[in-house]
Amino acid sequence: MSDGYDVVILGGGSGGYACALRSAQLGLTVALIEKDKVGGTCLHRGCIPTKALLHAGEVADSARHSEDFGIKATFEGVDMPGVNKYKDDVVAKLYKGLQGLIKSAKIDYIEGAGTLVAPNTVEVAGRRITGKNVVLATGSYSKTIPGLDLDGEKVLASEHALNLQKVPTSAIVLGGGVIGVEFASAWKSLGADVTIVEALPRLVAAEDPDISKQVERTFRKRGIGFKVGKPFEKLEKTATGVKVTIAGGETLEAEILLVAVGRGPSTANIGYEAQGITMDRGFVLTDERLKTNVAGVYAVGDIVPGLQLAHRGFQQGIFVAEDIAGLNPPVIDESGIPRVTYSDPEVASMGLNEDKAKEQYGSDKIETYNYNLGGNGKSQILKTQGFIKLVRVTDGPVVGIHMVGARVGELIGEAQLIYNWEAYPAEVAQLVHGHPTQNEALGEAFLALAGKPLHAHA
Ligand SMILES: Cc1cc2nc3c(=O)[nH]c(=O)nc-3n(C[C@H](O)[C@H](O)[C@H](O)COP(=O)(O)OP(=O)(O)OC[C@H]3O[C@@H](n4cnc5c(N)ncnc54)[C@H](O)[C@@H]3O)c2cc1C
Repeated sequence: MSDGYDVVILGGGSGGYACALRSAQLGLTVALIEKDKVGGTCLHRGCIPTKALLHAGEVADSARHSEDFGIKATFEGVDMPGVNKYKDDVVAKLYKGLQGLIKSAKIDYIEGAGTLVAPNTVEVAGRRITGKNVVLATGSYSKTIPGLDLDGEKVLASEHALNLQKVPTSAIVLGGGVIGVEFASAWKSLGADVTIVEALPRLVAAEDPDISKQVERTFRKRGIGFKVGKPFEKLEKTATGVKVTIAGGETLEAEILLVAVGRGPSTANIGYEAQGITMDRGFVLTDERLKTNVAGVYAVGDIVPGLQLAHRGFQQGIFVAEDIAGLNPPVIDESGIPRVTYSDPEVASMGLNEDKAKEQYGSDKIETYNYNLGGNGKSQILKTQGFIKLVRVTDGPVVGIHMVGARVGELIGEAQLIYNWEAYPAEVAQLVHGHPTQNEALGEAFLALAGKPLHAHA
């Protein structure tokens, strides 16, 4: 079919391909237009390769510290081409699987760069593809700041940083948010000397301040340098790398600079404004049903203001498909979206941090409890430090769950159920958790908040 689709989707990343698959499941005819590779940023340049790099780093650290567990092993070094092969194999396998899913769903996959030329039409290389509904899902790109040109050699964005052929001896990471701390953590594990420069007063500043403190404590112990409250001022390229000047005049030198200052929406020059779509600083504005102001045109994923996360894109893609199919799905609650930072230590959180909860409910209506992983058997076996902080409304539900420590990202599943079901501590305290697991730490935190602590150290 060349036109007259039920759904035409522009962009085959997390948001776009999820929408395509769900639309096809619902019996709709679908065209999915992608100029690069289906899977988008997350699969090819984001979530998956970064986590493979972090896992390779974890293996290196396990080898280095094997004696802590009574195991004699020698750490001989990092074979970066080998690490890249492992990472690329993971991506390739998932890519193949995804291509198979798209094919077997009988989605018309159209390769090429598309432009919105009418509210119901996308043009690709002179071919006009028309749909009753159009879904914009063109994703995001790595931003930089004035005076910092990304050259891909000394000054890198995350996509360049994923393809280094050797471990840098030293690196400056500009930005202490999720992407910055993940690369800093991975590179340190792989043997680089790393310093993070962050303009805000703390690392992972979107998280609860107690979480930032713990990340900073662990990074200090791991020998990861960081300068917080220090905006970038100037870059000079040197014969051996880069020289960065930060607020206060201090200079830092390293082999490479990674710029991790956020991601901008990929929406320029593809017809959105020309078709009258309401935009704000490049983002596409939608209502809560992800409809733009132009009838029949939806938007999903990183181009819609909010958390730029793959699982938000998946959910939005599914939502739009169901909306188009007339299933009238319930609106997605943006505050119920899980957040995980996969550095060592990991950070995982749901809902409101303490300050925001106090703002929303009043200081006298909020109770918090910090459960130290020191009391959790599995965390001690793993030799990790950290805690779970719960924020609840007095005599009401839990409105925030904040976790830090090795592998706590795996606890987010239970945390998001607790949060999204607006559970009361006494209800969660009744649930039996397997022993010894790290999930048990969540159970113990709730036992304590329900007034019956078991393995809780003050
Ligand atoms: C280093 C890094 C690590 C990350 N880690 C995580 C993580 O651990 N967990 C998580 O949830 N999120 C993570 N993210 C974020 C995640 O990758 C994004 O939120 C997600 O990919 C957004 O999906 P999307 O569909 O909106 O856009 P994208 O995945 O960016 O896909 C958009 C697609 O549209 C295509 N496209 C653009 N313009 C056109 C056009 N004109 N014609 C045709 N095709 C076009 C692009 O080629 C691209 O494939 C990470 C991101 C980065 C950069």
